[in-house]
Amino acid sequence: MADLPREHTMKVVRGGTVVESHWAAPADLLIDDGRVVAVLTPGSEVDAAAEVIDATGKLVMPGGVDPHCHVGFTSGEFTSLDSYLECTTAAVFGGTTTIIDFAIPRPGQEPLDAAEVQRAKASSGLCDSALHACVVEWTDTTADQLKTLADGGIRTVKMFTTYAGETMANEHTILNTMQATRDLGGMVIIHCESDAIVTDAQNLAAASDGVDAAHMSQTRPELAETASVAAILAIAESQNAPVYFVHQSTPAAVELVADARKRGLVAFTESVAHHLILDDSAYGGEQPERFVCCPPLRSAEVVEELGRHLFTGHITTIGSDHCCYDTAQKQVHSHDVRHMPNGLPGVETRLPVIYSHYVDGLGLTASRFVELTSSNPARTNGLFPRKGSLMPGSDADIAIWDPELEWTVTTETLHMATDYTPYEGYRLRGKPVTVIVGGEIVVRDGELVDATPRGRHLEAAPLDFSGAFSM
Ligand SMILES: [Zn+2]
Repeated sequence: MADLPREHTMKVVRGGTVVESHWAAPADLLIDDGRVVAVLTPGSEVDAAAEVIDATGKLVMPGGVDPHCHVGFTSGEFTSLDSYLECTTAAVFGGTTTIIDFAIPRPGQEPLDAAEVQRAKASSGLCDSALHACVVEWTDTTADQLKTLADGGIRTVKMFTTYAGETMANEHTILNTMQATRDLGGMVIIHCESDAIVTDAQNLAAASDGVDAAHMSQTRPELAETASVAAILAIAESQNAPVYFVHQSTPAAVELVADARKRGLVAFTESVAHHLILDDSAYGGEQPERFVCCPPLRSAEVVEELGRHLFTGHITTIGSDHCCYDTAQKQVHSHDVRHMPNGLPGVETRLPVIYSHYVDGLGLTASRFVELTSSNPARTNGLFPRKGSLMPGSDADIAIWDPELEWTVTTETLHMATDYTPYEGYRLRGKPVTVIVGGEIVVRDGELVDATPRGRHLEAAPLDFSGAFSM
């Protein structure tokens, strides 16, 4: 499909405020052939044939890049419910125009084979996608597989310090993978929770209050995360290897990474939207299983302190950790979180909840919002400036936001392939109203106007963190 000639209409986005990660100013954008071709003084004359998209009063932002998105993910007996088309459709409605999915091997499957399976799905997406590989166990073929993956533009490798017997990797495997990815222009991205501390906490809970969803917090204490982050930072420092921590949920964990950066290590913190907005009071509610995720939601005080690190600069990126299970799947083992499918649907709500709470509500700048949700995810994944920017030459993936629009989040008005949203009933201000993907208008004034799958698998460039950009 991608090779067939298409009618390209030149377009101009007029009258809005263009928001880049380091500046924002009134400007018009000229788009042609799927790319941004010029950033113009407002009102500049352009080709009379260009289609005009009126952005008066709106923010014109690079489409979001979601660095943490699980699509149709199988773990144990459960598979999350969305296809690439469904996930990317929801993403685009929420202003996200690039998703980065995971190729996590099934038991007995090689990392390379898992990546081939996921890569083949990219073309069914409404927007572009990239992949993180995953290594569980170092074998005599792993180095070659990582080389082949890097040559194919898959340079980030997910690892886990928990889920023993499933995806947990031991320290030898983690060290070897850090060495190999470092030399390939790649990076380990890692889920850190001490499996020993988690297992002990689960056993204690099982013997006392119970391991049902209402007691989720007790089963995965904050110390499990901090202990594991410290151990992994030490391995990364021993190898001078870059490292990216996914879904950091506590200020203590974020500060460990910030301290390592001061010592010169290239280390990054990702937080995810639900850890920045929701708190553990959800486990005291009527359907606690809907909020079961790992790490779990933390106390309101921890959430507030974590959120402050969006302002200090210590958080590099915001992902969704989107995982689209429905209530029925969550309820199968709601009496035992050790067997429940973990994760919350969130690819569509990531940008609006963060914008409303932190930009509209707490004064985070729109540029920092773009940096956290689009530019830095592109940078840490070798996709910048093709993605995460609106400078000439970048892909014309654009989210046009109405910063004043007030709306209520309901499951019915969202597009994710599940029957609930953790933000049901939330009143938000600010929403992407028109979304352009590869130069084509896909959502216009909140309506899907072009459902043509044009998704491409994006190849990551070798990661280079020697530049001057701040992340
Ligand atoms: Zn995840």
